[in-house]
Amino acid sequence: MNISKEKFKHDFIEQLMTRRAKSVKEASDWDKYATLGSLVRGYLARNWVKTNLKYCNTDSKQVYYFSMEFLMGRLLENHLINMNMLDICKEGLDELGINLEDVLNVEKDQGLGNGGLGRLAACFLDSMASIGIPGHGCGIRYKRGFFEQKIIDGYQVEMPEKWLEEENIWEIKHPEKAVEVRFWGGVKAVKADGRLEFFHENYEPVLAVPYDTPIVGFKNNTVNTLRLWSAEPIRKNFDFNLFNKGDYLKAMEYNYLVESISELLYPNDSHPEGKLLRLKQEYFLVSAGLQSIVRSYKKSDKSIKDFAEHVAIHINDTHPSLAIPELMRILMDEEKLGWEKAWNITTKVISYTNHTIMSEAMEKWPIDMLKSLLPRIYMIIYEINERLCSAIWKKYPGEWDRVARMAIIADGYVKMTYLSIVGSHSVNGVAKIHSDLLKDEVLRDFAQFYPDRFNNKTNGITHRRWLIQSNPELTELISDSIGDAWIKHPRMLRKLLELRTDKAFLDRIFEIKQNNKKRLVDYVGKNYSIELNIDSIFDIQAKRLHEYKRQLLNILHIMHLYNMLIENPQSNIHPRTFIFGAKAAPGYSVAKKIIKLINTVADKINNDIRVKDKLKVVFIENYSVSLAQLLIPAANVSEQISTVTKEASGTGNMKFMMNGAITVATLDGANIEMLEEMGRENIITFGLEKDEVLELYSNMSYRPKDIYNRDVRIKRVVDQLTNEFLPACRDEFAEIRDLLLMDNEPYFILKDFGAYLNAHEIVETLYRDKYSWQRMSASNIACSGRFSSDETIREYSGDIWKVKSTLI
Ligand SMILES: *Cc1c(COP(=O)(O)O)cnc(C)c1O
Repeated sequence: MNISKEKFKHDFIEQLMTRRAKSVKEASDWDKYATLGSLVRGYLARNWVKTNLKYCNTDSKQVYYFSMEFLMGRLLENHLINMNMLDICKEGLDELGINLEDVLNVEKDQGLGNGGLGRLAACFLDSMASIGIPGHGCGIRYKRGFFEQKIIDGYQVEMPEKWLEEENIWEIKHPEKAVEVRFWGGVKAVKADGRLEFFHENYEPVLAVPYDTPIVGFKNNTVNTLRLWSAEPIRKNFDFNLFNKGDYLKAMEYNYLVESISELLYPNDSHPEGKLLRLKQEYFLVSAGLQSIVRSYKKSDKSIKDFAEHVAIHINDTHPSLAIPELMRILMDEEKLGWEKAWNITTKVISYTNHTIMSEAMEKWPIDMLKSLLPRIYMIIYEINERLCSAIWKKYPGEWDRVARMAIIADGYVKMTYLSIVGSHSVNGVAKIHSDLLKDEVLRDFAQFYPDRFNNKTNGITHRRWLIQSNPELTELISDSIGDAWIKHPRMLRKLLELRTDKAFLDRIFEIKQNNKKRLVDYVGKNYSIELNIDSIFDIQAKRLHEYKRQLLNILHIMHLYNMLIENPQSNIHPRTFIFGAKAAPGYSVAKKIIKLINTVADKINNDIRVKDKLKVVFIENYSVSLAQLLIPAANVSEQISTVTKEASGTGNMKFMMNGAITVATLDGANIEMLEEMGRENIITFGLEKDEVLELYSNMSYRPKDIYNRDVRIKRVVDQLTNEFLPACRDEFAEIRDLLLMDNEPYFILKDFGAYLNAHEIVETLYRDKYSWQRMSASNIACSGRFSSDETIREYSGDIWKVKSTLI
């Protein structure tokens, strides 16, 4: 955006007057935010229209990224950066006596996601726009995003999230582009021209109304679209009939049921709920999204037979996997194509990303539920399954077991992972180890059956949000040191490796880290009245709370450190601050117990004057994208300690690396590729490796009690869970103790405990040597470019979607 400061100030004052009828003096922070936001939206509107026209005129292939979650965070600053307006805006507002940061902080996070999967979708949108890929998001406009977490008396309490309470200045509603989605009812088959036609009857219609949000590319004039669908009652015909019959209650009930479809985001990460309403949401998303894509495609005079040459649809996990039968339905029932042609198009159009190998996280729907809610869709899945089974039989005659293992419909369920594999041309995992596990273990039958279908696309993060936006001082230092070409080509960050021995440079990295820590110290002081020591090691674990992520291992280690300090008051440990941020799914009781444990230990430690200057533990409430942007730049140590094989990739790990934290890591997910990129001297690894874990799972020989009896350090912390050491009810943590000691405890907490302690001793030793720590920190930053999602998106575009950048 080429705009002078004077013009900007003038526009701002005008906009404030017309929108809010206020002068700068009278305006509240919200007034200023809404004004600046609508001004920015006005500025970008021209490019939004132009981008759409260009895609139309050049007939470029379009990508649609279907996801039940988009964890966007705040948008205003992101837009300002990508439009190259941040400085003008900051200076202009300054001259009007307005602090830009105060204005930016008014914006509520757009929190329509649980964690990594939703944030990945958001990073991908930013990258697609920034490298000029015609790629758009397709999701649900939940009225209530991910719940707000409060900690009360150490326990997690969930509060409703209300991001739409104030006006959402970014979205534009398009009622004229609404489509109808149909549930329930039955299917009638009619023979016409010698072929069967199917009609869905007695269905309940729901109106899907799109709201579009602009996705601004980085200084390239591209503006893509995130389209979110909202469910509304159909006003014409349907409820008038009901009203006419005097069936007021029935009409009201219909309204309520319809609106519930886009009412809330299910707060489950890695564990599907299996509820009817969730199934409705999933079909609502894919049916609305596909109908609108097909309708816009048909506005050009292209033949539906060429659909796959012009459209690519990606499904983010199996949640949108009904896109496969839904596209089949549209092509056959509405476009009148035969099965073979429709199937050929569908599998060419659709591609699928798998996000987990944990069996409890794999989606499946009870046959009866799917069949009654979506009768025509069920028929199509049934036929897909029939054809799959006979193809398997043909390739492996006589292998009944194999057919049974691979069937989409089996054991009373429809298995969405299998449907997704069969109905797409590409199945990718999200890090090398994960993709290998899919091919060699979890989905081996399918990998043998479709050898060319499986591939890897290691996750990435957008360096624009996770470095340029969240760490402006470091950004400036980097550009001052190596020029700013790295912003377009993040691999060029490697040039920083040459400065690893430059003490002045390393001193600057240290100072910047201290400044970022200061911001966090202020936040914690203000919100929790806990005084943090800025010279302590800030050790952060921020991510969803899940047993496999092993926050429990972390807190047990903290208990051990505390024991050491009490036992040996003169010991000269470097002061440590441990910081957690984590939400637990509301129904996941063990995860909630671990939150209570962290807070109870924090209470004990923070109130013990004996360790006052040495040890602090802080639990930050309501972890979110905005809080991540505050926490991550302030970290000295990043905790990435999942049980090996369980964390498909992780993306938090990459954000910390990019901001110069040193990672304490298991050899899981993308940690392995991080190590390969920066060398093992720049990361601290510990614990069981993949083959050892698989071996222990297969021979079931893990006996944690042996370790407990053998290692006094472990015995002590485990006993402290139930022996009145902690300020809590006596059996508050008995369940955790029992889980830890259970035969074949699946997360190997005690097994990895000793190695984890050693890793932390290494942290301490390294941190004491300021320059060797800063050198590692610089190497982490320098090697993080490979994890920019720009690179990930280039791979998806070339290998899977076959789309090109439209930038000249
Ligand atoms: C990046 C991110 C995540 C994912 O973190 P992992 O450590 O990869 O699980 C979750 N939540 C938020 C808010 C994030 O920004």
